[in-house]
Amino acid sequence: MVSESIFTQCGKYSRNEVENALASLLERFGGMKSIVSRGDNVLLKANMLSASAPDECVTTHPEVVRAAAVQTIEAGGKPFIADSPGIDRFSDVARKTGMEEVARELNIPCVELDDPIALPVAEGNVFQRVEVSRRAVEADKIINIPKLKTHAQMMLTLGVKNLFGTVVSQRKAQWHYNVGLRRETFADLHLDIARGLAPCLTILDGIRGMEGRGPSNGKPRDFGVLAVSSDPLDLDFRVCTLLGAPLEEFPLYRAAVGRGLVAKDARWDAAGLPEGTIIPPIELPKLDALHLLPPFLDRFGKRFLASRPVQEKKKCIRCGKCIEICPADAMKPTRAGDIEIDYDKCIRCYCCQEVCPADAVRFSKGLLLRTLECIRR
Ligand code: SF4
Ligand code: SF4
Repeated sequence: MVSESIFTQCGKYSRNEVENALASLLERFGGMKSIVSRGDNVLLKANMLSASAPDECVTTHPEVVRAAAVQTIEAGGKPFIADSPGIDRFSDVARKTGMEEVARELNIPCVELDDPIALPVAEGNVFQRVEVSRRAVEADKIINIPKLKTHAQMMLTLGVKNLFGTVVSQRKAQWHYNVGLRRETFADLHLDIARGLAPCLTILDGIRGMEGRGPSNGKPRDFGVLAVSSDPLDLDFRVCTLLGAPLEEFPLYRAAVGRGLVAKDARWDAAGLPEGTIIPPIELPKLDALHLLPPFLDRFGKRFLASRPVQEKKKCIRCGKCIEICPADAMKPTRAGDIEIDYDKCIRCYCCQEVCPADAVRFSKGLLLRTLECIRR
């Protein structure tokens, strides 16, 4: 199969519309039978970040996962839906996101990505040992089904970032701790995982996605797009361009160019959309400027320049999820029930914002960003 990405318009999550849109896209690849072989165990790697309803746009819509499962079954494959949510219990996530219902209806498994094992190291990898779920490593094929969303740390979360979800639950937070402060390094990790897992297909749910403070607390927005690709990296750069987001500021792009995985002068169009299709630019989250600093300035930068998490007391429902996920042990409850944050320990990994169900963690701008904004004005 050639490396390519194809887009189509798809306006809503009606079963017929999604099934027909996906079928027409797959025809361009020779149909699902040319991708999945009879008897293949096929991991459908949806985005199941948290226990959220489909209309919150935090997770992949179940109709898109369902359409992928139906195509896989018709091709003779044996699909199973799976992910490793960051914090919520898998059973709650499966039920609330609608995946459990899809699995029940089609009589296929919906299981947690657990049991970490080492991912085989691909040539040119930056990281020599990364562990992901055994179910992902041992699947015959992986169909990657991301949601189109913004990401407060990585600008966008699309095909490549979705595969980071195969890292087993709390170990994600540990990676945030190890490399989260440098976006390009974190992007290198995502690239290594994507290259190691090599999904046979990526299906992007961009029908209704998220902008602003993604991946959990942004605003749902219609994009009206479904896309398939044999290469999630190729797909991500085309989507970034289609959304009017600055490619040169996309950490994944910077990492890929730095490693020579893509040519700097490549053109990233959205093949398949009618000529002249314009999607109004996506509202991106504010990224602070810490990643511009050399390593020896990181400690200083983190303390005085980087954005820092702040609890919005009025919104907080005191669920404790942020304290539980914090990989740096930087958060603790006060007697009054508020959250105290130790900024010396905090590594600005954004995990607390990512898991907060009440949009009660805000990142206040660092001094450097505020100064730059003043100069620009
Ligand atoms: S306080 Fe938030 S941003 Fe800081 S280390 Fe903990 S989870 Fe990460
Ligand atoms: S800040 Fe968010 S995650 Fe933390 S306790 Fe409050 S509501 Fe829960």
